[in-house]
Amino acid sequence: MKNALICTALFLAACSKPAPTDHATPETKAETIKLYALECGRIDMLDLGIFASNGAYDGQTYKAVSSCYLIRHPKGDLLWDTGLPDALNAVDGGVTNGPFHIAVPHTLLGQLADLGVTPDNLDYLSLSHSHFDHAGNGGMYAKATLIVNEAEIAHMFRDEARKDMQTFPAYSALEASEKITFSGEHDVFGDGSVTIIDTSGHTPGHTVLRLELANTGTVLLTGDLYHLNKARELRTVPVFNTDEAETLRSMDKFEALAKETNAKVIIQHSTQDFEALPKPPEYLD
Ligand SMILES: [Zn+2]
Repeated sequence: MKNALICTALFLAACSKPAPTDHATPETKAETIKLYALECGRIDMLDLGIFASNGAYDGQTYKAVSSCYLIRHPKGDLLWDTGLPDALNAVDGGVTNGPFHIAVPHTLLGQLADLGVTPDNLDYLSLSHSHFDHAGNGGMYAKATLIVNEAEIAHMFRDEARKDMQTFPAYSALEASEKITFSGEHDVFGDGSVTIIDTSGHTPGHTVLRLELANTGTVLLTGDLYHLNKARELRTVPVFNTDEAETLRSMDKFEALAKETNAKVIIQHSTQDFEALPKPPEYLD
């Protein structure tokens, strides 16, 4: 297995440069992978101070987005994160919840339906982590195969999580899902094009997603490794992360990968990053 992973890594390194198009298999496959950016809610961060343990953002606010992604691969569809609960769509103007004002102008269900995806035919679901704004519709997609870091599975189904009546009911149905769990990283389709990578620290099993797209090249979806564009420069760690030292190690690992692959990095809560992406029916490929 280790050899297979090393070969995949070498293969990807060889393919990261523009290649002539007369090769048949890998490039042809890669060309058909599509990344759709979906808006899964709006989050007004009313107290940005909690996003830096060193006080870097004290007194500031930020209008963030909650984004989800559909990855369409020849071997199946993967939904990466499920955003805030669709039920909030019925609440005009949204609700204030602690240091956040949250709203869902467009449901995930509706956006997926426009792309021909339903809770009954989705193949794979993965969550960067189990927080409310990423797992908010998780339970609706329990028929899909759930691919989650084994440390996050343990975290999201621990006794204390079950007592969180705001978050747990949103994803509790996933307990019955068919599951693929992993530690380290998981190659979703077995061809190196879609890889879920452990970057723990925000939560015990937090992950980011690496995509190899034919035209765009390497794309990295950050989950909540970073919430803000400036967090990448400042290496700030939210006060509510489960492990600050582990978060910083994950940032090092992520940045080394981003540099090595010359990746396009998408910070999932960044309105700037999200607005710059094509919107369905358009996609990144
Ligand atoms: Zn988040």
